[in-house]
Amino acid sequence: MGEGMKRFLGTLCLLALASCSGTSGGDKAETGLAADNWVTPGGDIGKSHYSTLTDINRDNVGTLGLAWQAELGTGRGLEATPVVIDGVLYTSGVAGRVYAYDGASGKELWRFEPPVDMQVNRTACCDMVNRGVSVARGKVYVVALDGWMYALDQKSGKVVWKADTVVDRKRGDTSTGAPEVAGDVVVIGNAGAEYDVRGAVSAFDLETGKLAWRFFVVPRDPKLGPQDHPDLAPALKTWDPNSRWDIGGGGAPWDAINYDPETGLVLVGTGNGGPYATSKRSPSGGDNLYIGSIVALDAKTGRLKWHYQETPGDNWDYTSTAPMILTRLKVDGEERPVVLHAPKNGFLYVLDRRDGKLLRANPIVRVNWADGVDMKTGRPRLTPEKADYTSGPKIVFPSTTGARNWHPAAYDPESGLYIGSVQDMGNAIYMTPGQKPHQTKMLNNDAALLFTSDLQAILPGLPPPLRDAIAARPEMAWVKANPSGTELRALDPLTGKTRWAYKMAGWQDRGGALATAGGLVFQGSIDGHFRVFDKASGKLLKQIDTGSSILAAPMTYKVGGVQYVAVMAAWGGGGYPYVPPYSAAYKRGNQGRILVFRLGGGPVPIPPELPALEPAPVPPAQAAGVTPQTIAQGMTLFMGHCALCHANQPRSITPDLRRMSEGTHAAFRQIVLEGLLLPNGMPRWDDRLNAKDVDAIHAYLVDLQAKTRAAELEKQKRGQPLDTPGLTILSNY
Ligand code: CA
Repeated sequence: MGEGMKRFLGTLCLLALASCSGTSGGDKAETGLAADNWVTPGGDIGKSHYSTLTDINRDNVGTLGLAWQAELGTGRGLEATPVVIDGVLYTSGVAGRVYAYDGASGKELWRFEPPVDMQVNRTACCDMVNRGVSVARGKVYVVALDGWMYALDQKSGKVVWKADTVVDRKRGDTSTGAPEVAGDVVVIGNAGAEYDVRGAVSAFDLETGKLAWRFFVVPRDPKLGPQDHPDLAPALKTWDPNSRWDIGGGGAPWDAINYDPETGLVLVGTGNGGPYATSKRSPSGGDNLYIGSIVALDAKTGRLKWHYQETPGDNWDYTSTAPMILTRLKVDGEERPVVLHAPKNGFLYVLDRRDGKLLRANPIVRVNWADGVDMKTGRPRLTPEKADYTSGPKIVFPSTTGARNWHPAAYDPESGLYIGSVQDMGNAIYMTPGQKPHQTKMLNNDAALLFTSDLQAILPGLPPPLRDAIAARPEMAWVKANPSGTELRALDPLTGKTRWAYKMAGWQDRGGALATAGGLVFQGSIDGHFRVFDKASGKLLKQIDTGSSILAAPMTYKVGGVQYVAVMAAWGGGGYPYVPPYSAAYKRGNQGRILVFRLGGGPVPIPPELPALEPAPVPPAQAAGVTPQTIAQGMTLFMGHCALCHANQPRSITPDLRRMSEGTHAAFRQIVLEGLLLPNGMPRWDDRLNAKDVDAIHAYLVDLQAKTRAAELEKQKRGQPLDTPGLTILSNY
């Protein structure tokens, strides 16, 4: 580590809100990098997901085994990286639940379950996840899925204060990120740019929960009067006056928020525009500030100090919300404080975090929406002939799932490598005027998305003009050569070049990463393996079959003289209803747990395999008067209201409605209209659907169940496996 790095981290340490040295951090804690404690979900203030601990290292990692585990009693996604302060592990789970454990024994100290109105699931695109807590001044801060922020007593878990972070409860806001402590405030953004959401980041007083400031990411309708804050006046000029103000415009900053104590700035990564297609959102185009950007806000006032827009006009759901890492790098001979950022759009950016000056922007995957970034202007060289799908279908790389997404990467200060999962995949995208495509419709979006992973299989079934137009795109050569793939990669942040890579089990397999001074990189897989690599070479040193899918980032801490490595394990997040067939969740179910490892630990208890799939049960007879038109209408209503959560896939983590029991069929109206299963997470729809609509949906599902049963009985007769998953995948990252 260079002297400059030490100086920077020393400064961070002085300013850090949680103790840098902990109780027994030793010399290395003085650097501000994680040691015994892991003070933010990213480990240190810069969130480098790197630890200076060396007890577990290349020489002894072979004996890594389970120290303790905790079952959380949920079947939904877990994305948080825990925080450890003085031997206590704090983490968050489904919908913003918080757990505190003794880090050595695994004894639960307390838990907090926020009261969440499950109606919120109607606009939760990507599962009921939460990405972590923040701990400061004796309090643990978390945001619940419904946008209520809680400050909990660090010792007891009791609510000290709560604050509503949602500006307009009539819109589709949710919240899933880890709050960020920045000086005297705690900062959080909203999620939901797939719905009618106007992106905003809000800061609350650490002690009282009183709103300190709020930064709206996009302007409001100028006809309503002046903008909410002065930074929106220049932004307004980058939008068509007739933009879709009615649905908020998007820009929701749902993950990356980094406080930089060195500059006093809060760096925020902002989300995609809503709807996705720029032509539908802002008909005359424009950059649509501040979507797809990093905005740097004064932590005291919330006013904009600089911004850098990574994806001007964001036409592709690229968002800039992927985690950022603050560190120092020597760039062109000069050591600088930098932010490293690889958003969904395929580039790895290095910016000077004092002023947002662009230092590097290198592609890390196949990219065709831009032909590089002009380093003079900082703007991408757009290639509308390849990527503007307004005038016809295009195959655009990367896909909307992103080269990178929320899964944290690590920055290793020793080797200077940026280490994280990288996905190389595209989408075929086309406009769907006046029709709702089955399989692919996102609320408020007029663009249909077909992942290149499945494109060759899907193509023959598309209407001929669409099929032929997609098949004629030159990118079909890319699709044929390599439709998709995800790797754990170690990248040089200054060149974007890969030093080493490890191929993951499938494109959805993209876990978070941890690097340590012990020479190691840790990463979980959704195939159930927890893996340890040599960080210099990428050599696989150890893998433990846990039987649980893992997406979240591992972290490490030390208590009582023992180094532990912890990770939260469950499938979920974007695309959650579709459980990949190669995943542990598909084979063994999705019971969420925390797994904690140490040297000399024991075996991980592996959940039993799920029983073989049975043919769909016999559905009830159709009600009198049901016609093919009723069923068709029901399908349209289902795709518009239900399909985002109910993918109707085998082993989905939401019910496969082709397999409804007699009792569920009988209660169908009460479930959909009256909220019979609201406590389980199934919202009520009586404000949007009437009894006739629900009966039509039911008729469609009865028909589908009958067809599914017939097909499965036929398969069974031929001795074929029943659980061949379909191709329906909704892009909702
Ligand atoms: Ca999005």
